[in-house]
Amino acid sequence: MITIKSTHELKIMQKAGQISQAALLAAGDLVAPGVTTRELDEAARKVIRKAGAKPAFLGYGGFPAAICCSINDEVIHGIPGRRKIKEGDIVSIDVGAVYEGYYGDNAATFGAGNISEEARKLIDVTRQSFYEGIKFARKGQRISDISHAVAAYCESRGYGVVREYVGHGIGTKMHEEPEVPNFGAPGHGPRLTPGMTIAIEPMITAGGWQVKVLPDGWTVKTADGSLAAHFEHTIVITEGEPIILTSVGG
Ligand code: MG
Repeated sequence: MITIKSTHELKIMQKAGQISQAALLAAGDLVAPGVTTRELDEAARKVIRKAGAKPAFLGYGGFPAAICCSINDEVIHGIPGRRKIKEGDIVSIDVGAVYEGYYGDNAATFGAGNISEEARKLIDVTRQSFYEGIKFARKGQRISDISHAVAAYCESRGYGVVREYVGHGIGTKMHEEPEVPNFGAPGHGPRLTPGMTIAIEPMITAGGWQVKVLPDGWTVKTADGSLAAHFEHTIVITEGEPIILTSVGG
């Protein structure tokens, strides 16, 4: 069932989103050679707890941390720990907060020191593909209009679009209906209605779309070892322009 949020619920979700974005930026600001991924996790936790919220990912399905931290050919769900970030790494951070029972969820990829031109382009294309998708996040469009816009932008530039993991509805649960794939033909799926809240999250690779899960049971990496990037916001469909809820300024 797709839930339509009331104005009151959206106010709370905006707060959850602001906290999620602040946590993402706090962790992202620390990305540099020599820093451990655990330090990023601690920074995000601190921001979330100080705001009176809870880390949404901690304990979710048994996940042991507040952020997912995925480096280079890792796409999503990397577990923070003692690993030190190296010069030239690209670090995808995914973090969510739950505030008064409502979830925010967002992600971005950050470069450590000087990164390659290939990595820079991948990050730029991944971020922009989100903005191509959100152009279709409007009343009356269908979910797959967003999906198609994301894929068309990336694939026409030679990038791979991960298929096994997708965006999602969000609200009182982190993952609600509908699924929001980053691929597929336009004109399918539920029609977008004001008050629908969804997380759009392109996971893009510099190679193929195939991925595999590492033996830790969590970390998803590209099957061909190519670099991957991730970008995500929680948004709400309105009568007009969609609103990004995971925005510090919002
Ligand atoms: Mg998500």
